[in-house]
Amino acid sequence: MYNMSTLLRHGSDKQKALYMPKIASGEWRLQSMAVTEPTTGTDTTKIKTTAVKKGDRYVVNGQKVWISRLQHSELMILLARTTPLDQVKRKSEGMSIFMVHLDQALGQGMEMRLIPNMVNHETNQVFFDNLEIPEENLIGEEGKGFKYILDGLNAERTLIAAECIGDGYWFVDRATRYAKDRIVFDRPIGQNQGVQFPIAESYIEVEAANLMRWRACELFDAHQPCGAEANMAKYLAAKASFEAANVCLQTHGGFGFAAEYHVERKFRETRLYQVAPISTNLIFSYVAEHVLGLPRSF
Ligand SMILES: Cc1cc2nc3c(=O)[nH]c(=O)nc-3n(C[C@H](O)[C@H](O)[C@H](O)COP(=O)(O)OP(=O)(O)OC[C@H]3O[C@@H](n4cnc5c(N)ncnc54)[C@H](O)[C@@H]3O)c2cc1C
Repeated sequence: MYNMSTLLRHGSDKQKALYMPKIASGEWRLQSMAVTEPTTGTDTTKIKTTAVKKGDRYVVNGQKVWISRLQHSELMILLARTTPLDQVKRKSEGMSIFMVHLDQALGQGMEMRLIPNMVNHETNQVFFDNLEIPEENLIGEEGKGFKYILDGLNAERTLIAAECIGDGYWFVDRATRYAKDRIVFDRPIGQNQGVQFPIAESYIEVEAANLMRWRACELFDAHQPCGAEANMAKYLAAKASFEAANVCLQTHGGFGFAAEYHVERKFRETRLYQVAPISTNLIFSYVAEHVLGLPRSF
C-alpha cells in the first residue's frame, strides 16, 4: 500500500492512467519496493545497483536483498543509481526509481531467491544481470529518485506503526482475557498486581503510540513534512508492540510457548519492526540530527 504514494505523487498522468485502474481492480499488485542492498545496508546513497540509459531503455545490473512480497506482486518499484556517486554534488542525487513489470523481468535479467527467515514473511534476494527497462517506466525525473522514495518510506513507517499498534492491542487483549480466565492459587492470575500492572502499562504505551501514528497520518495526507512524526510513530509503536508481546507471553506462562495460542509466533513477528523497515538506531539518528540539530554522525 505504501508504494502507492510514490506513484500517486510522482508518476506521470500517463503512468497513473496505466497503473491505477489495474491496481484498483486487483489485476496488478504493487507490493514490492527494492531499495536495500547486501553490501550497503542502511547507507542507501551508496547503493551499487546501476541503471544505464541505452537508447530507449535502461539496463540494470546489481543486487538487492530482503525484497518482500515479490511472490504477491506483478509490479515492483526499483531504486538504482543512474549517475555515479563521484559525479553528483550531493550523494542523495543521481538515483532514480523505475516501475518493473515482474512478468517481463523474471528470467529475463532478473532472478530472485527466497530467504528462509524467522518471521512469517516472504522476502528475497534479487539479482540483476542486464535487465532492460523501457524508459517510460522511469518515475518522475531521472536523478531525483531518492527524494521521491522518501515519501514512500514515510508512508511505510506510518503503515508499519499501524500494524504494530494492531499487534499491540492484540497482545493486550489476549493477555487481559487470559489473566481473567486462568485460575491459580484459587483466584484469577489477573487479580495479582504483579500480573495486572505490566498489562496496564502495555495498554498505555500502545495508546500513546497510536496518537503519534494519527499525527503522522494527518501530516502525510496534508502533504506536510512528516519525517519526524513518521519515524517517531514507527519507533513508539514497534517498541510498545514488542513490550506488549513480552508481557502477553509472560502472562500466558508455559502456554505462551505453545504454538496453538499464536503468542510465540506473534512475539517473533513483532520483533522485526525494531529492525525493518528502518532500525531503531537510524530513527534516533534522524531525530537527533533533523529535529534537535545535533551534529551529523555519518
Ligand atoms: C523481513 C524483512 C523484510 C524486508 N523487506 C524489505 C523490502 O521489501 N524492501 C527493502 O528494500 N528492504 C527490506 N528490508 C530491509 C530492511 O529495510 C533493512 O534490513 C533495515 O533497513 C536494516 O538494514 P540492514 O539490514 O542492512 O542493517 P545494517 O545497515 O547493516 O545495520 C545493522 C545494525 O547496525 C546499526 N547501524 C548501522 N549503521 C549505524 C549508525 N550509523 N549508527 C548507529 N547504528 C547503526 C543498525 O541500526 C542495525 O541495527 C527487509 C528486512 C527484513 C528483515
